[in-house]
Amino acid sequence: MQIATKEHTAVEMVKAALEKAKQYEDYHVFVSLNEEIALKKAAEIDAKIKKGENPGRLAGVPYACKDNFLSKEGNTTASSKILEPFKSPITATAIKKLEDEGAIMIGRTNMDSFAHGSSTENSYFGPTKNAHDKTRVAGGSSGGSAVAVALGIVPFATGTDTGGSIRQPASFNGVYGIKPTYGTISRYGVVAMASSTDCIGFFADSAEDLDLLMDICAGQDPYDMTTLPDYYTEEAPHSFNKVGVIKDFDLSKVDPEIKAAFDHKLETLKSMGMEVVELDMPALKYALAVYYIIVPAEISSNLSRHDGIRYGYRNEEAKSLDEVYGKSRNDGFMPENKRRIMIGNFVLSSGFYDAYYNKAQKARTVIIKQYEDAFKKCDFILTPVTPNPAFKLGEHTSDPVSMYLEDIMSVPLNLAGIPGVAIPAGETKDSISLGVQLVGPRRSDKALLKVAADIAKQEEK
Ligand code: GLN
Repeated sequence: MQIATKEHTAVEMVKAALEKAKQYEDYHVFVSLNEEIALKKAAEIDAKIKKGENPGRLAGVPYACKDNFLSKEGNTTASSKILEPFKSPITATAIKKLEDEGAIMIGRTNMDSFAHGSSTENSYFGPTKNAHDKTRVAGGSSGGSAVAVALGIVPFATGTDTGGSIRQPASFNGVYGIKPTYGTISRYGVVAMASSTDCIGFFADSAEDLDLLMDICAGQDPYDMTTLPDYYTEEAPHSFNKVGVIKDFDLSKVDPEIKAAFDHKLETLKSMGMEVVELDMPALKYALAVYYIIVPAEISSNLSRHDGIRYGYRNEEAKSLDEVYGKSRNDGFMPENKRRIMIGNFVLSSGFYDAYYNKAQKARTVIIKQYEDAFKKCDFILTPVTPNPAFKLGEHTSDPVSMYLEDIMSVPLNLAGIPGVAIPAGETKDSISLGVQLVGPRRSDKALLKVAADIAKQEEK
């Protein structure tokens, strides 16, 4: 990643990124731009460089931030109406860590409202377009961040991945994306979706850049009790040389161009001397159903705080407290948010709790166990990220279940809390980007990024 120097100033870098952001306005990457603050911060970095002070490992690097990270500057909307007027009194730990190293946020990127979705079409502000084909979706929910990197507006962007929201848009737009081990990066100051699977991660152009961002942001935070003691800065425990392939993902059912991209990557791994191990993981076929029970349950609870009173939008015509809650939430949430609140309340209700929520938790435990067993036989697993390449805008909007089915290969690792790295894997004959993912045991993030970097080197040869 190019950082600011005396010759190549932070102000120049930030100006260039802002210009590009405007040039690509029709992709609808950003919800808001931070022009004034960004330029002011860039001038401060340049002043530090002039004085010979250490400007940080990301000095003057412009970045794009998913609109669900809170900061005292500007608004955080989570691409929703209900948070549109919201001003945060706090700044997310991840933003603070990036900015302490000199990174400069140029704007907030579009997303599915509250991160519910796989296409960025559920944004209150309208959809983001795919970087390589404007008739197709950007993927989601961190669609804006993926496209910001793919279009070369910024060298990196932040995202969140609760069920694929970094890896899927990364592969739909041909960039690298990491969903770390659950608990690696503090979620303090990030709008909660499903607390047992939410993870913060990044998009960038290379595995090396992701490694640097992880190094900066990983670590325990007293404000997020789920964070792990920092394991990331240590050396990768050992290099990986056994790759697992899951027999239960029937690749004959995925799009043939994705299957070809997967096979090609496997060949690259073999040419690097990796041994291929076949894995039986029958419980994975329940992962999507489990995810779409547990996650809405957590969403219904997390979104209950948006009541029209505590923050954000309030319906001013409401005449009673109940009406304030009802009308504000009705106006403020998107249909997909409401669908998930309803599903969540249903699966948690006393009559159905055992049949749905409780059963899903038991199945989740079996899924976790199957990954643990798999990682006794192999070091990491290679799978596609999605069964299909980026779909057309509007293709799934009238049929939510068909949209959910696109997540079938991304959600299992969120349930298990394990890391996944999406890497580019060529493109379709229509020039639509494809990706595959490397999945490893808990805390193997650094080793996965090393494999990702080695693959890129091998393919360059
Ligand atoms: N597409 C998945 C969903 O709709 C994942 C979203 C996410 O990771 N935030 O739930």
